[in-house]
Amino acid sequence: MSLDYTSLLLAVGFSAACLSLTLFGMWLTARSEKFLLTWAISLVFVVGDIFIYDAYIEMPGRLLGIATSAFLLIGFSTMLGAAYQFRTGGSPLPRALWGCYSLAIALPPMALGYDGLGFMAENMFAAVLLFATAFEYWKGRDEAPALTIGITALYSATATSFGLCAMVLAWEGKLVLGHAPSNWAEELSLIVVIASMTGIGALSLALNQGRLARHHHRNAQTDSLTGLLNRRALFDMHGHVPVGAFTAVVVFDLDNFKTINDEFGHAAGDEVLRVFANELAANLRPADVAARMGGEEFALVLKRTLPEAVEEAAERIRAAFAARLIETETGSLTCTVSAGFAFGSKEGISLDKVLSAADKALYDAKRGGRNRVTASPFRRAS
Ligand code: GH3
Ligand code: MG
Ligand code: MG
Repeated sequence: MSLDYTSLLLAVGFSAACLSLTLFGMWLTARSEKFLLTWAISLVFVVGDIFIYDAYIEMPGRLLGIATSAFLLIGFSTMLGAAYQFRTGGSPLPRALWGCYSLAIALPPMALGYDGLGFMAENMFAAVLLFATAFEYWKGRDEAPALTIGITALYSATATSFGLCAMVLAWEGKLVLGHAPSNWAEELSLIVVIASMTGIGALSLALNQGRLARHHHRNAQTDSLTGLLNRRALFDMHGHVPVGAFTAVVVFDLDNFKTINDEFGHAAGDEVLRVFANELAANLRPADVAARMGGEEFALVLKRTLPEAVEEAAERIRAAFAARLIETETGSLTCTVSAGFAFGSKEGISLDKVLSAADKALYDAKRGGRNRVTASPFRRAS
């Protein structure tokens, strides 16, 4: 096979530079995605390595040899840091610095003129760092299995190609080369890098876009004060299917909440809302859904249940909340809640209708003196 190695090498350099710029541009528009910046920086080192290596092919020398090895290993260490940062949100530095320890073994032979040994070590550590990067994506595969497993495979393929370069050099057994390594493994590695880099770039960007979309979706469905679902999310989950006879909706409304705001301030009111939301969340079964419907009104959807069980659950929440002494910046206070509940029907009725039946029961509870749970007289499961 006849390959113009230098042209291919420069092609890799230019496309890595473009990927780095793309990542940097993306980071500018989404600053919270810091891994994009780390990854862009890692590619700057890789691009640096490629151009220095190109110079080394023309003019082999110790300084260029040291520089090319250092840039490659720092680049791949930083890339490992970026993968860790993407998966965990943690700092990329420990992984990146850990990777840079490889310099302590790869550079001295290069400096002492044992370039064969130096390139062997460089390729071996490059393989280790790329396998470690692949492993980071493997560990994060639950997020988007097809994409992450694809990325894992591509990093592993690249790692394997560097591993082969190290093995061929070890097989040849020359400690001193006096020129850039030139063998079938080097050519293969370059081709694998070209193919993998494009794939890794595309899959990683798709992975990140998917994550951002899920993040925005979650934000749009979550009430920011309490962390519960909001009204829209509740309707998204339960609004499309008729509510059956064994599904209950409980609505809660805090009692005299306006007075708490007036006496203790809005921030204290917010704290009371959070405390109540925690009380709701603490009393949920896995299949139950709690939402903040707006203001000081909350709803609970309980599936496969019966009136006695709903009454008991609502009563438990009411009693627990009433017993809480709530500490706020402006003083300690107690608050109570009223609740009303209603069931769907055998034929199934809309969530809206069940909610308004529960609301009517709630007003009965308010009229009856507050701090109580009332059942809707209509559409009870028989
Ligand atoms: P009732 O027992 O009849 O329910 O009386 P209430 O005072 O609880 O009811 P009302 O509807 O008169 O007042 C509700 C208050 O809730 C008015 C509003 O300012 C307050 N509120 C709504 N949303 C928030 C919020 O996010 N934070 C705080 N602190 N107050 C809120
Ligand atoms: Mg209200
Ligand atoms: Mg109220």
